[in-house]
Amino acid sequence: MSNYPDPRSKSARLHERAKAVLPGGNTRSSIFLSPYPIYAQSGQGCRVTDVDGVERIDFLNNYTTLIHGHAHPAIEEAVLRQLRRGASFAHPTESEIELAELLCSRVRSFEQVRFTNSGTEAVMQAIKAARAFTGRTKIAKCEGCYHGTYDWSEVSLDTAPDNWGEEPASQVHARGAPPSVAEEVVVIPYNDIERAESILDRHAGELAAVIVDPLPQRAGLIAASDAFLTRLRSFTKGRNILLILDEVIAFRLGFHGAQSALGVEPDLTTLGKIIGGGLPVGALAGTRRIMDMFDPSSGRAPVPHAGTFNANPLTMAGGLTAMRMLTQEAFERLNTLGERVRRELRRALNTAGINGMVTGMGSLFMIHLDESPQGGYRAIQISRARDKAFGWLFQYLLNHGIIINAQGMGSLSTVMTESDVDRLPETLLAGLRAMPKELLSPA
Ligand code: PMP
Repeated sequence: MSNYPDPRSKSARLHERAKAVLPGGNTRSSIFLSPYPIYAQSGQGCRVTDVDGVERIDFLNNYTTLIHGHAHPAIEEAVLRQLRRGASFAHPTESEIELAELLCSRVRSFEQVRFTNSGTEAVMQAIKAARAFTGRTKIAKCEGCYHGTYDWSEVSLDTAPDNWGEEPASQVHARGAPPSVAEEVVVIPYNDIERAESILDRHAGELAAVIVDPLPQRAGLIAASDAFLTRLRSFTKGRNILLILDEVIAFRLGFHGAQSALGVEPDLTTLGKIIGGGLPVGALAGTRRIMDMFDPSSGRAPVPHAGTFNANPLTMAGGLTAMRMLTQEAFERLNTLGERVRRELRRALNTAGINGMVTGMGSLFMIHLDESPQGGYRAIQISRARDKAFGWLFQYLLNHGIIINAQGMGSLSTVMTESDVDRLPETLLAGLRAMPKELLSPA
C-alpha cells in the first residue's frame, strides 16, 4: 500500500528539485505524471521499488521494453562483461553482426539491419531511406498513431473532435514545425481500408512510404485487421510505395515478429524496445536493395547515417542476450500468460458489472472501462474523453502495488509467474468495487 500523491514523499521532494533544472521537472513527456512522478530506486525481476521504499509489480516494463524484467542476471552479466572491456569505441564490434544475424535469421523480410539508439531514430531513418529509394517525398501514416518524435511521423498525433474534420487532417504536432511538414504527410484512418485506399489513391504518385503500427496503443491496442494489412500491402506494392511496419512495440508478439503473427511482409520494419535488453536501442531492417541506401562503400551513402552510439557494444551485448533467451518456447509461455491476463481482466470487468473491454495480443494488454466496438483512434479518443473513472483506477492500482500506464496499457515479462500475473485482475476487481459509482455514470 502507498498513498500517492503524498507531498511529504521523497518522490514529491525530488520532483520539486527536478523542476529547477528540468522543464516541468520532466525529460520524457510520456511518463509525465501530475502532481509528480514516482521516482524509481531499483528493479528486480518483475518488481520495482520506489525511492520511498514502496514495491510494485511492474506491468509496464519501461513501456514494453523489459521483456525479461529488471536486472536479469544473464543480461547483467553480459553488459558488465562488455563494460569491463570498454563501453564504446570508434570501431564496430562483433556483437553488432551477431545481433543483426539473429534478427535476420528470425524474420523473412529482414535481409539487412541498421542500428539506431531509439525507435524515433529508426522511424526517421526508415522514412529517409524510403524517400531516397523511391525518389518521392510524401509519407502516409494512420491518424493518431505514434511513431516517435520526428516532425513527419508526429503529424496528426493528437487530432481531436473539434479539429479532426470528416477526413483525417494533417496537422503538425510540435509548435513551430514548418507547415510544409503537414503537406508532406497524408493521414489515413486506421483499420478502415476503404477510406484509406481512397485517400492514398489521390497521392499515390507522390508517396515514398506508408507507415503502420500493426497494434497501436493510441488506437486502443487493437490489431490491424487482415483486410487492412493485406490490401495496404497490395496497394503499396502495385504503386512502388514502400510499406514500413513499425514494430517498435509489436515485435514482442512472437519469435518471427508481428509481421509473421499478422501475415504481412513489409519492405522495411522499425524495431526498438526489446531488442536492446533494456538499454537504449532502435533498428530498421529490410531488403538489401532498400538498405543499400545506407551503404557508404562506394563513396557517400545516399542516406548518410552516423551516430556516436549506433550499435554501441553495451546495447548489443544486452540485446543479444535478451533476444537469445526469447526462444520459441519462451514466447509461447509468455503469450499464454498474456491470454490469461486478458481473460482474467475481462472476468474482473464482468464481475464488477462494467461494460468495458480488454484489448491486446501476445503479452500486451489494454483495459478499457468503456466499450468501443468500432475501435480505431477516434472511437478510443471519444471514449477516453468521457471516461472519468480511469484516472481514479490508475491511482488505485499504483497505491495497491501495480504499475501499468495511465491509459490502461501494459505488458508482461518472462520472469512473471501466474500468481504475479493474477495480481493485476485481482487488484483491478478490488479497485472497481471500491470505485465511487458516480465516476462510471456516462457524461
Ligand atoms: N514507434 C512506436 C510504435 C512506439 O511505440 C515508439 C515508442 N513507444 C516509438 C516508435 C519511438 O521509440 P523511442 O521511444 O525508442 O524513440
